[in-house]
Amino acid sequence: MSSTHFDIAIAGAGAAGLQLALALRSDPFFAEKSILILEKDSKEANDRTWCFWEKGEGRWDDLLRHSWAFGDFFSKTKSIKLDLQPYRYKMLQAIDFYAFAKRELAAAPNFIWRNDEVLSVENGSPVRIAGQSGSYSADYVFDSRIPEGFFQKNDKYTRLLQHFKGWYVLTPDDRFDPARFTMMDYRLRWQDTTSFTYVLPLSRREALVEFTLFSPELLADGEYDTMLRRYFDEILKISEFEIVEEEQGVIPMSDFPFEKYSEGRHIRIGTAGGWVKPSSGYSFKNCERNARRIVENLKAGRPANEGVLSPRFRFYDSLFLDVLYRRNDLGPDLFETMYFKNDIQKILAFLDDDTSIGEDLRIITGFPQLPFLRSLVNRFTR
Ligand SMILES: Cc1cc2nc3c(=O)[nH]c(=O)nc-3n(C[C@H](O)[C@H](O)[C@H](O)COP(=O)(O)OP(=O)(O)OC[C@H]3O[C@@H](n4cnc5c(N)ncnc54)[C@H](O)[C@@H]3O)c2cc1C
Repeated sequence: MSSTHFDIAIAGAGAAGLQLALALRSDPFFAEKSILILEKDSKEANDRTWCFWEKGEGRWDDLLRHSWAFGDFFSKTKSIKLDLQPYRYKMLQAIDFYAFAKRELAAAPNFIWRNDEVLSVENGSPVRIAGQSGSYSADYVFDSRIPEGFFQKNDKYTRLLQHFKGWYVLTPDDRFDPARFTMMDYRLRWQDTTSFTYVLPLSRREALVEFTLFSPELLADGEYDTMLRRYFDEILKISEFEIVEEEQGVIPMSDFPFEKYSEGRHIRIGTAGGWVKPSSGYSFKNCERNARRIVENLKAGRPANEGVLSPRFRFYDSLFLDVLYRRNDLGPDLFETMYFKNDIQKILAFLDDDTSIGEDLRIITGFPQLPFLRSLVNRFTR
């Protein structure tokens, strides 16, 4: 085979591509396989912060910036204290993850990293990749590029955006409790939307505070800043602070059938593969879980993405998204119901697609039924 042919190629070295690469790297089955990573960016910026939860110790513990076993949820009028144990809510900065992955992969002679932009991928045997600076082929291609169809929007699928802006702040005196984080605070909202703030204290004088919306449209840039400033004034009552870093992002929340854009041995991964939980926007742990599944599938000779998405949880997510899309004003009440009627451990397991049908029903029947019935009808008639 030529030097541009590989056993496996990964297009995009983000959360999904790198987790897949690391999973392949740590399994001796792939030690002799040639693996190409194509990434257009240098991956040297701290372009996001990942939060996720897991029970006890985990794969990324040495890289974490902080973690919490306790937190708070604030609805419009009440609050609840959360004891997450045995879970911990963990925070990882992307730059630490990228640096770790680069070090690990550089030490593996069967991995090749090319800075190139993938222009197209053509399924076949082998799968062919056209890059900006070269052409490649591979037996399998795992592709993080979001399919064009997602952006066309003239279809029946629901598209919400999780959009947010956050400030890393330092205060001159002790204002935070680093042992507790705020999961969601609905006391301050942007108009009648599903919008909230979360607070991740890193020390008594340092925190990441983010204002977040689950809604169809982005705000003007200054409006996120206005809401953050109001949160400091009206809720935290902190007037003196320095903003040391900002974070801003948009995550698609959708029931778009990303999986249909995987074909043969050209498989979409990450956001492009539908790995972002549509109703929550979380995906870092899904990337870890799905990377492991793909590795096991490849070893067993099964279709690479078999069992990666759960139709049952996709169905729930799709209903929840539809309710939020039609009645964005209801979001704060729905989350209040979820947090006040269920143990946090059950909620986290549910959001992890890790509950039984009986447990799901207990959570789902706690919600007001009418908006969900309307969405159910809509789903089958759309
Ligand atoms: C600011 C922000 C914060 C987030 N916070 C959380 C969180 O707290 N918890 C959580 O679970 N999820 C979070 N998410 C959602 C999700 O986990 C991330 O978006 C995650 O990075 C998705 O992984 P991915 O591999 O699909 O995409 P990315 O991590 O974006 O990786 C895609 C990679 O592909 C590369 N690429 C794209 N096109 C090409 C091309 N044509 N050729 C070559 N390379 C290409 C990009 O440069 C990038 O490196 C967050 C997202 C954002 C944007």
